[in-house]
Amino acid sequence: MKNTTVLLISFLIVIISGCSEKKENMNYKNNPQPLLRNAYIKLPLGTVKPAGWLKSQLEAQAAGLTGNLDDFWPDLVNSAWHGGDGEAWERGPYYLDGLVPLAYLLDDENLIKKSNVWIEKIIASSSNTGWYGPAKNKDRWPLAVANKVLMQYYEATDDKRAIDVLTKYFRYLHETPPDWPDKDWRGVRAMENAVTGYWLYRQTGEQWILETIESIQKNSSDWTTYYEKFPWDSAASTDKKIPLNWGPDGLTAHVVNNAMAIKYPGLWYQQSMDERFKKAVFAGIGKYDLNHGQAGGRFSGDEHLSGKSPDRGTELCSVVEFMFSLEELYAIFGDNTLADRIELLTYNALPGTTTPDMWSHQYDQQSNQVLVSGVKRDWSTNGDYSNIYGLMPNFACCLANMHQGWPKFVESMWMATNDNGLALVSYGPSVVRARVGKGKEVTITEETDYPFNGSVNLTISTEKAVRFPIDLRIPGWADSVTIRFKGKTVKVNGGSNYKINEKWKNGDQITVEIPMEIRVEKRFNNSLSVLRGPLCFSLRIDKEYKSVKINYDNFGYKGSVDWEINPKSAWNYGLLIDKENTMNGLKVTENPIGKYPFSDKGDMIWSADSGKYTPSTQDAPVVITARGIKIPEWTMKNNSADIPPLSPVKSEGDPEIITLVPYGCARLRITEFPVMDIILMEDMMKPGK
Ligand SMILES: [Zn+2]
Repeated sequence: MKNTTVLLISFLIVIISGCSEKKENMNYKNNPQPLLRNAYIKLPLGTVKPAGWLKSQLEAQAAGLTGNLDDFWPDLVNSAWHGGDGEAWERGPYYLDGLVPLAYLLDDENLIKKSNVWIEKIIASSSNTGWYGPAKNKDRWPLAVANKVLMQYYEATDDKRAIDVLTKYFRYLHETPPDWPDKDWRGVRAMENAVTGYWLYRQTGEQWILETIESIQKNSSDWTTYYEKFPWDSAASTDKKIPLNWGPDGLTAHVVNNAMAIKYPGLWYQQSMDERFKKAVFAGIGKYDLNHGQAGGRFSGDEHLSGKSPDRGTELCSVVEFMFSLEELYAIFGDNTLADRIELLTYNALPGTTTPDMWSHQYDQQSNQVLVSGVKRDWSTNGDYSNIYGLMPNFACCLANMHQGWPKFVESMWMATNDNGLALVSYGPSVVRARVGKGKEVTITEETDYPFNGSVNLTISTEKAVRFPIDLRIPGWADSVTIRFKGKTVKVNGGSNYKINEKWKNGDQITVEIPMEIRVEKRFNNSLSVLRGPLCFSLRIDKEYKSVKINYDNFGYKGSVDWEINPKSAWNYGLLIDKENTMNGLKVTENPIGKYPFSDKGDMIWSADSGKYTPSTQDAPVVITARGIKIPEWTMKNNSADIPPLSPVKSEGDPEIITLVPYGCARLRITEFPVMDIILMEDMMKPGK
């Protein structure tokens, strides 16, 4: 008896000391052995829901293309993925990769019903060999996307059939020879399968899944060496040496592949635990910024990597894929620079490349975008129509793939911590309902107009008082953030994490005050971009929308229009900025946020009720007035704004008041401004001057 007690006590000591070394979340599964334990755990779909303006944004998406596209776009209407005789490749899975999460985030019965039609057919298509999907598809690439659809569907529904289909498919990959050629999408994007593979391993713990992923990593494109060497740098861009082909070389310069592949060394790091792979991820992001970086955290590619000049395009697919890559990487590394960038992309590049009602999108967006039309351009390989807001400008990949952006962002705004708590990863109005501590369910409501305003209020709802930690990410661009809870006030430096471990009772609150000071960032040719919090600001240019017919029809669907947008006011302004005191002479106005958060007056908005488009009269949620001087010699080149003249620019004209709005609200814009070479007079910067 005595011996048993001693044994039991020593056993408990081992368990307790084991726990303190490596804490394990009891409520959500982190990677089991032998994988690396990740910094955070992504929560299952539906755990985080949108609120406030973010809910309006997702509702706009549901009322726009995402909720209607499958009713009129032949590639979805007749898709072989739900039993039709049409498209059998990536378009169906791409669409579902956004439709499924959107449906469950909004608890939208109609969208859930729509997605179930596809899901049932996909589940039924699973064959004895493990292969699934349309009979006529023999390519592994679209299944890599469909895998992610089944993963999210399972998280929302607990339907075990999804796990069966995925297990059988990964078994198929395990039993058949590797088939991941560098010259094909399935090869360059092979490690996309690892997202689902590791997830499946977390669900089932079957060791052979790790063998499958190892085989994919070893037999597909070597992105790690690519990021280490990075052959397609600025020099290659200037010398026009970036391969614009669709062979193995060209595919490594392809912007969407780059946006996807940045997570591949990180995914493999979980299994290899070799620092080399972690370094490759951060080196890769740094090289994108250095060589192809654009305002708002993007890198260019129209459609191969295109350099830093603000007239270059960035394809929409690369925006949503980069976001998803960063969301995956954040869970693995917990590095806050990744989350800063998630917010930059989500709050700038994503809304900036669709219309506010999400009925139209671009293929390529530009930082300095002063004309949206189908006239001759000098994109690297894209067609002249690539920057119009339409149904499928240039090529329809973005039309199929754009839907994942907002929903997956919402899914990853909160994550679980290894010590049974919750981490606030990206700020924005949301509600998280999750298990914490020893399995207690709590709800945290995040009320905020962030990123338009920096006040965040968190309210905890719980049946009984419960102790659990809350990790707050402190944005890297903020000097110091003030956090108040339980009568305490703390100031925390930007770029850090703040963990609050308290016993929370129902109604407890945490307030976070994030200072929204204006700052500037040096960009191409010494130009400057203006930022406030995670928002980039662009010159408001008066605009005229014109419905145009281009090289395809819109299948008679009235909401779907292709827009050309012409400038109706001057755009060639240089910025007067007081470098000693950036705020000097700038005036910020916060306006009410409308039903379409990323809109500005003059934007055309579709109304299904009236069956008409009408121009919005709503101001953008934040407006900044500043001073600018026209630069007459800065003009158009090949129908885009020419590169900004090298700053500082000698000025002759008089200062004028110019208006800046968030990039995401500006369908026409200047975001990289030349800076005027002028000594600022105090009275010049006074409001009203
Ligand atoms: Zn695309």
